[in-house]
Amino acid sequence: NKQIILKHYVEGYPKESDMEFKNSIIKLNVPEGSNVVVLKNLYLSCDPYMRSRMKNLEDSYVESFTPGYPITGCGVAKVLKSGDSNFQEGDLVWGMIGWEEYSIVTPIQSFLFKIHDKNVPLSYYTGILEYHFTWYLNYVTFISIHAPVGPRWMPGITAYVGFYEVCSPKKGETVFVSAASGAVGQLVGQFAKMLGCYVVGSAGTKQKVDMLKSKFGFDEAFNYKEEQDLDAALKRYFSDGIDIYFDNVGGKMFDAVLVNMKLHGRIAMCGMISQYNLKKTEGVHNLLCLIAKRICMKGFIVSDHFHLYPKYLEMIIPQIKGGNIVYVEDIAEGLENAPKALVGLFYGRNVGKQVVMVSRE
Ligand code: NDP
Repeated sequence: NKQIILKHYVEGYPKESDMEFKNSIIKLNVPEGSNVVVLKNLYLSCDPYMRSRMKNLEDSYVESFTPGYPITGCGVAKVLKSGDSNFQEGDLVWGMIGWEEYSIVTPIQSFLFKIHDKNVPLSYYTGILEYHFTWYLNYVTFISIHAPVGPRWMPGITAYVGFYEVCSPKKGETVFVSAASGAVGQLVGQFAKMLGCYVVGSAGTKQKVDMLKSKFGFDEAFNYKEEQDLDAALKRYFSDGIDIYFDNVGGKMFDAVLVNMKLHGRIAMCGMISQYNLKKTEGVHNLLCLIAKRICMKGFIVSDHFHLYPKYLEMIIPQIKGGNIVYVEDIAEGLENAPKALVGLFYGRNVGKQVVMVSRE
């Protein structure tokens, strides 16, 4: 069973060498009387929050990985054998799985759910979807029984909650999104356009900047790495200021945005990827703007808002099926390339939602 093991806790930027590609023996069977299922893993999700799990965390909303053991995360798999009557051989499922070829898991502990709608790419179940209603019902049951350790970072509902619930957007408002071409950002931009907002995104390469405008319909986009002065860049696109800032990066960009916010603007603090690998977070100098401009700034964690899942599904499913929402994925092929794909998030190498394909079927 090929596996990706975390060798040790990580300081600074993660490196591929912090992880190890290992081969071990696994018995692909269900012991008599056991309710485990044997999975063949197909797709793995790479997410920025996984960087936090590479630290020895105390008092965090996520759990640390265990050095010496496989990395775990959201993924899609096929059931090979099942000791649980809810799952049959051949079922496609998604949930928390190991970064390995095969996993043997207890469905409830791994937060395993059947994939019912196969008319979308399977990899979407690591990002924009799971969109069967039983998912939500199962989730509520699960959370009421167990500690809340299940998937909590799904980019689709993160974009939905952060934009519609936290930002209270209105038609015609001006919206700025950072890390705009990523798993969350690309959806925020499209939601804002659907509402009739003026939307600008920042990203770290020319290819991404072009994609923001040509593929996702952003009104404007810029490469923040080529800007000497972020304040000047923002003024170029928002001569009258920003109503809504959807922050995925924190740091210097956040600081520059504060000065460019409009009176009564709203800021959704979704993530601060520019800070995840630093020992000490960067100083932010313009917080006084929050008071002077009466800005409402709110941090959120998507798992607190899963009760909105049915509402999200109601909105997103017709948009996907009608082709009004597009979703760009960056699929790395082969489990051996998973460390590179994960590390790449922190260097901006992914173009769209980063997924690893372990096996096509
Ligand atoms: P992305 O798909 O956007 O991948 C990360 C991207 O971040 C990179 O491609 C890169 O793009 C950008 N980036 C990396 N390092 C830096 C840096 N130092 N400064 C600026 N940009 C950088 O990831 P997601 O869409 O999955 O996540 C986006 C954010 O949302 C993250 O901060 C994540 O932690 C957060 N998140 C929060 C959730 C919540 O519940 N609050 C749930 C899910 C995600 P570029 O080329 O543009 O630099």
